[in-house]
Amino acid sequence: MAEAYKIIDHTYDAVVVGAGGSGLRATMGIAETGLKTACITKVFPTRSHTVAAQGGIAASLGNNSPDHWSWHMFDTVKGSDWLGDQDAIEYMVREAPQAVIELEHAGVPFSRNEDGTIYQRPFGGHMQNMGEGPPVQRTCAAADRTGHAMLHALYQQSLKYDATFYVEYFALDLIMENGECRGVIALCMEDGSIHRFRSHAVVLATGGYGRVYQSATSAHTCTGDGNAMVLRAGLPLQDMEFVQFHPTGIYGAGVLITEGARGEGGYLTNSEGERFMERYAPSAKDLASRDVVARSMAMEIREGRGVGKEKDHIFLHLDHIDPKVLHERLPGITETGKVFAGVDLTRQPLPVVPTVHYNMGGIPCNYHGEVVRLKDGDPDSIVPGLYAVGEAACVSVHGANRLGSNSLIDLVVFGRATGLRLKETLKQNTPHNPLPKGSEELALSRLDHFRNAKGSLPTAKIRADMQRTMQRHCAVFRDTALLNEGVEHMKQVYASLADVGITDRSLIWNTDLVETLELDNLLAQGMVTIQSAANRKESRGAHMHEDFPERNDAEWMKHTTSTFTGWGGTGGAVDIGYRPVHDYTLTDDVDYIKPKKRVY
Ligand SMILES: Cc1cc2nc3c(=O)[nH]c(=O)nc-3n(C[C@H](O)[C@H](O)[C@H](O)COP(=O)(O)OP(=O)(O)OC[C@H]3O[C@@H](n4cnc5c(N)ncnc54)[C@H](O)[C@@H]3O)c2cc1C
Repeated sequence: MAEAYKIIDHTYDAVVVGAGGSGLRATMGIAETGLKTACITKVFPTRSHTVAAQGGIAASLGNNSPDHWSWHMFDTVKGSDWLGDQDAIEYMVREAPQAVIELEHAGVPFSRNEDGTIYQRPFGGHMQNMGEGPPVQRTCAAADRTGHAMLHALYQQSLKYDATFYVEYFALDLIMENGECRGVIALCMEDGSIHRFRSHAVVLATGGYGRVYQSATSAHTCTGDGNAMVLRAGLPLQDMEFVQFHPTGIYGAGVLITEGARGEGGYLTNSEGERFMERYAPSAKDLASRDVVARSMAMEIREGRGVGKEKDHIFLHLDHIDPKVLHERLPGITETGKVFAGVDLTRQPLPVVPTVHYNMGGIPCNYHGEVVRLKDGDPDSIVPGLYAVGEAACVSVHGANRLGSNSLIDLVVFGRATGLRLKETLKQNTPHNPLPKGSEELALSRLDHFRNAKGSLPTAKIRADMQRTMQRHCAVFRDTALLNEGVEHMKQVYASLADVGITDRSLIWNTDLVETLELDNLLAQGMVTIQSAANRKESRGAHMHEDFPERNDAEWMKHTTSTFTGWGGTGGAVDIGYRPVHDYTLTDDVDYIKPKKRVY
């Protein structure tokens, strides 16, 4: 196989796969230590999905209202529906203020208060006084383009360090040897050359896999390639059943309207003009956490109170807000509303519907970014050489449901933590062992298989089948019959990949091939997502199981782990296991936050 492809070898101390917020922050931190660092990315860094983040980044700076990191911790634990690991959550919320100041110094043009401090807005589920309320203003914002500002600042900063960027390189697979990660193989999309990176550390920062669904706010490139590489390496993913639906995707287009819109005073109404969130969440109302708001909207629609001809969506009102405020704080969504819904939101309500937005599940790791798995009875056993950060990772700080503006902070806090860990554990000039024989075999046989695939089904057809199945069978409301049927459908869709056909056989910018590799990645994740969902017989956070409507801590306060065997439509077995949730904090400064009923 190797003879047919030109392989170019590289050796680094560390290779980061992904150049979104988490990948760039990790790259900067690692390069800063003097380790020889590379960053591989399939899109130009500033095109990563982080660029689309609107609302902001959470940190208890207390600029606009009283705040404390322990309040942020409480909200995050409660938001996670007690599936988050409290040691990692404590780490994140305590590092958060410093991480935001660091971004400010890196050049992020945050919106400002009169006194010059960083402007902070309210966001769903973020409260004062250990959840008692009122809502806290904790989300630091650069108007409604926070991710854009962050990503550009981070990219500019990263150029200052001696890291080599491999832009428009598509990572194919990890190189594993005896349970240890030794490097990664990538395809240069421009000329089809194969690049084999030997490295002491591989950091997966490949983002989420929202595109497993039909309607998602995430970019078409969000295909979770790193997650799938981990599955092919025989390692588990964690908590994949927890998929966040954002309450306000634009109806039809799926484009996001930030929660910042409700943070600035926006509210939802049904066909009767009723502000129905008052019924579901009397205290937080429209600023309850996302799973709660999305479910309430879905309930209104189900009970016939949706708006529009089909009664299948909800209205978001911003028309009562001073146009000057809209212009200053939400200029991006004002434009988005016009382009994607044809609505002038200073006068008309926006048609919105819950839309897939974020994957709480991903690659299990600790708060140093080290990937973990169960080995010899130890659920926190480290996989040497492998790290994960950002949406690809499951630390787990978000548990069963992520709070808005807690992802951007996760990216920078854990991106930085990974750099710190490597500084501690990896010495410069550590010699490299030779790679195992046939280290390119898995990556190349898969590439070659799809490149020559002559089956009868186009990639787009299989992808549409998968997306429809996931959207129908594994969405906001789930039940046993729906999930079981979905599992069977997904098995068929997965098997149909064996009959895929592509038409372009070249190696120069072969998007047909790359999309098929991405589809293979998505299918593996779809399979573990829906089977993990069918397996969890309770309701928690984003996983609402109607046959088991209550949270069941006695049986289910544990992380799901899932492995997958196969690729390309063959194999396809999902194996499910568990990891305990960390029921301890990082320090004695704060007590373990005990589970209680989650009401907003
Ligand atoms: C529309 C939208 C708005 C959001 N708004 C907010 C917000 O206001 N606040 C908040 O906290 N969160 C928000 N989120 C969530 C948050 O933005 C994301 O979770 C986060 O940006 C993900 O960052 P990341 O670094 O993990 O990955 P991404 O930014 O998705 O980047 C992934 C990187 O991996 C690379 N990559 C992937 N596969 C491969 C491969 N095979 N080979 C090589 N490279 C690869 C890509 O090129 C890219 O550089 C929003 C999300 C969306 C979709």
